[in-house]
Amino acid sequence: MSDLPFLPFALPEIGEDEINEVVDTLRSGWVTTGPKAKRFEQEFAAFLGEPQIECIAVNSATAGLHLALEACGIGPGDEVITTTHTFTATAEVVRYLGADVVLVDIDPTTLNIDPKLVEAAITPRTKCIIPVHYSGLAVDMIAILDIARKHGLRVVEDAAHALPTTLEKELIGTLGSDATVFSFYANKTMTTGEGGMLVTRNAELAKRARVMRLHGMNRDAFDRFTAKTPSWYYEIVAPGFKYNMTDIAAALGIHQLKRLPAFQARREAIAQAYNAAFVDLPLILPPEAPDGDVHSWHLYVLRLSDELEIERDVFIERMYAAGIGCSVHYIPLHLHPYWRERYELGPEQFPHSQKAFERMLSIPLYTAMTDADVQRVIAAVRAIAG
Ligand SMILES: *Cc1c(COP(=O)(O)O)cnc(C)c1O
Repeated sequence: MSDLPFLPFALPEIGEDEINEVVDTLRSGWVTTGPKAKRFEQEFAAFLGEPQIECIAVNSATAGLHLALEACGIGPGDEVITTTHTFTATAEVVRYLGADVVLVDIDPTTLNIDPKLVEAAITPRTKCIIPVHYSGLAVDMIAILDIARKHGLRVVEDAAHALPTTLEKELIGTLGSDATVFSFYANKTMTTGEGGMLVTRNAELAKRARVMRLHGMNRDAFDRFTAKTPSWYYEIVAPGFKYNMTDIAAALGIHQLKRLPAFQARREAIAQAYNAAFVDLPLILPPEAPDGDVHSWHLYVLRLSDELEIERDVFIERMYAAGIGCSVHYIPLHLHPYWRERYELGPEQFPHSQKAFERMLSIPLYTAMTDADVQRVIAAVRAIAG
């Protein structure tokens, strides 16, 4: 056992600026969606380098994915293709709309959805593809967008891991898909506690998502209460959802976004320290972004190579015994009872995801780690795998 305090798998980094902004919000009298949510949306668009792009702040990425698919018109009878190697939120939103999920396997090198398998899974019912930029490494979006164009499909990117990932030097969020959704959950590359951002260049899609974000109302509360003329009147145009981001959450987001470049540099430095320290071990190291591109390093995923006899579960137990939290991303969807039973899925249909799952673990990588924490993780991995 280690004498050092337990090093958790993930921790957010919240500074005085975030705390002061939240306090300012609490004192301002406007705690729900208002001026700070609007400012966060504008600053997010500026960060993407496209002030005109539509950014819609929501209370989770799950909500953003649901809104994006709803605005794409996905419904009963439709099929949506995504990867089995993801969190259930990616797929559950398809079921919210009564459409069906078609899961495909991953590329064994990148662990991202395999575009060849996407194309093979297309049927006359297919309406949409949801690529997931797993761990923060960009999916081959050139191939995915090509397939979508050829078959007339929509594309909604699950970019929960992918801020600020780039593909051919373009930020994820600015590519040619219908919508991209980021997550600001507590362990993501920046956080608002709970929150997400739906990004799109499609004005119609944005308009629908804004209305459905708040009960299907054609005017939000901030517009109504800040208008110069009496403005109690609104109309309900659809049975919408309650997915708006509060100004308290946006207060965090405004400052986390400012710090994102520094966060990214720190994540990159930790990832490079791990890569250098593990290169001689019987481990499969995570693939890097191509030269000139950014990997957001939301996750640092190690895979135990076949020559290493230790089992993955035992590896994680030994890391815990050394006082270090680890995780597994993910238990593939095809192994969960709901997805397995609904679509009669088995591991033999997803050999690459299955193999990766059995041998993978995610080790701590976050900006609040000290250099000593990083060295401690390195020493533990080397002792167990060496
Ligand atoms: C975190 C995550 C989500 C959901 O994000 P929330 O903001 O918690 O709703 C969706 N997809 C993936 C791949 C995630 O990691």
